[in-house]
Amino acid sequence: MGNAGESWDDEYDVVVAGSGAGAMAGALTAASGGLRTAVLEKTGVLGGTSAYSGSAIWLPGTRVQERAGIGDSAESARTYLRALIGDGTAAHREAFLETAPELVEFLEQDPAIEFEFQPFPDYYDAPGRMDMGRSFVPLPLPAERLGERAGLVRPPVDRDRAGRGHAASKPLVQGRALIGRLLLAISATGNGEVRTGTALTDLVVEDGRVTGVVATTADGPVRLRARRGVLLAAGGFESSAELRGERAVPGGAGWTMAPDGANTGDAITAATAIGAATGLLDQAWFCPGVLTPDGLPAFTLGFRGGLIVDGAGRRFANESLPYDQMGRRLAAAEGPFHLVFDARSKGLPAISVPPVALEEQVASGRWIEAGSLAELAAKTGLPADALAATVERFNGLAAKGVDEDFHRGEDPYDLFFTGGKPGLAPVDEPPYYAAEIVLSDLGTKGGLRTDPDARVLDGSDRPIPGLYAAGNTSASFTGPVYPGPGIPIGSAMAFAYRAVQDMRR
Ligand code: FAD
Repeated sequence: MGNAGESWDDEYDVVVAGSGAGAMAGALTAASGGLRTAVLEKTGVLGGTSAYSGSAIWLPGTRVQERAGIGDSAESARTYLRALIGDGTAAHREAFLETAPELVEFLEQDPAIEFEFQPFPDYYDAPGRMDMGRSFVPLPLPAERLGERAGLVRPPVDRDRAGRGHAASKPLVQGRALIGRLLLAISATGNGEVRTGTALTDLVVEDGRVTGVVATTADGPVRLRARRGVLLAAGGFESSAELRGERAVPGGAGWTMAPDGANTGDAITAATAIGAATGLLDQAWFCPGVLTPDGLPAFTLGFRGGLIVDGAGRRFANESLPYDQMGRRLAAAEGPFHLVFDARSKGLPAISVPPVALEEQVASGRWIEAGSLAELAAKTGLPADALAATVERFNGLAAKGVDEDFHRGEDPYDLFFTGGKPGLAPVDEPPYYAAEIVLSDLGTKGGLRTDPDARVLDGSDRPIPGLYAAGNTSASFTGPVYPGPGIPIGSAMAFAYRAVQDMRR
């Protein structure tokens, strides 16, 4: 804990730790309302995993869905969330639903911010579901609008991992557009200051109230006062092998999709040190991943061909399941897991971030190529008889066009990536391939317990004055469920907005 009574290096109304979508939305809310605001970012660039993301935003019943004429409403979203999550977090759900339209109206009032609906089905067959989804994305952002500040936004995954910046003369898209647009809007207020290379380590408490933070910088520690409040939106602890191990989060720190080393739970640790309560600590937004030549994962979704087998060479799930559900099946089964496909299907998923190329994967030895299934089994260590039987059974189902075992292709989500076909092509044309599949994630989703105004709670369920949390720093109100595309970012933004509204009261 930072010592009370020492002098401050800088004074703000609001200090935000982290610079993902929630942090930046919170900072904009504060700065545009006239509050002097600091965004502290541990790394050299802004945006974290949010910048890597597809930036689908699940905020239901807003003017964006109204413009698209898709018939979405807060009521149908309530029905859907309630069916999936129950009423255990009803107060958060209601706060989220009430905030969504107001937040989007607030954001779109800014000349830097504009959204459009993007079809992407909700993830569960439940009442209130929208088959083409209800999420939206920011419009691409021409790099010239950011000028030199474009370098402040974290580049796409493949370029970032290679130490490269944004591609010249291309607009920023997806998560980069979202962070870039929020950065433009914050800059235009004249009240927001972005401090990169500044990592929150401690919270300062005076008379029971959080009044500021201590952060490390290249020039040593700084103490920053936050007159109205501190918003912790610094991601989860997905990149900490130690914390993952302690809290038994399936997967691994080396397999997370978060930027290398960024999200190590610092904000959660700082808050628990002053008595904050935590929840859902073994949970993450899971996904299947394939390992790329550099050993890092690629987030994969929308398998259009092939089948996934466990260590015993058996299928164990509908390969087309929404990625978090597939991740949970991986966590419950025994690996190693392989996507087995053939020359015809090419096996490549519809979306892979970063993109993967068959030839490169095979050349690097990450994916195995073989002239027969028996050879594939020998090269991968899979039991040959079981693999042959599984593929034979799968090919029979493919011939019928019906997956009697796992119902692949029966849900609108499955069909979304396969042009309306069930994605059941037979695997019988050599060469055969095996791609190892690992349990990856898009971040942990357990963390600080909050009330519906994002106020961090102590062990007795009382808000800790001056302290707020959003995004993966907080325990998600969705529990172990991933309802639809854009829930992580949508909920992060909604609760960050509510946090700042509360600070202003
Ligand atoms: P982050 O966005 O990771 O931001 C946390 C930031 O805090 C980082 O910049 C980090 O460096 C910084 N930080 C960490 N510690 C400190 C500290 N001590 N002090 C200061 N700063 C600190 N979700 C969606 O909703 N829609 C999508 O379309 C979507 N697509 C995705 C696609 C990909 C490829 C990936 C990888 C994820 C996707 N997700 C999507 C998931 C989503 O991006 C994340 O779960 C979400 O963005 C996490 O937001 P956050 O603010 O909690 O963390």
